[in-house]
Amino acid sequence: MLQQDTRDLAVVVRQKLFFGTLPRDEPTKMWVGKGSGSLCDVCDQPITSTEIEYEPDFSDRRVFRFHLNCIEVWHQQCL
Ligand SMILES: [Zn+2]
Repeated sequence: MLQQDTRDLAVVVRQKLFFGTLPRDEPTKMWVGKGSGSLCDVCDQPITSTEIEYEPDFSDRRVFRFHLNCIEVWHQQCL
């Protein structure tokens, strides 16, 4: 397991929010499931099948994938 430092993640999230790589709006839908090996849009690490994958959908049809830990950091930074 990769140990992520939440403070570092918060910096990454703030940068991605600034550059528009990550959305600031509330998702219209949220899918939760087993990881499919896709890269997380926050930490750029794969979400493996032993992890939970969060997939928020937005009104403009953008789709993102996050780890549980990463979506929490994203939420905090959006507030
Ligand atoms: Zn992640």
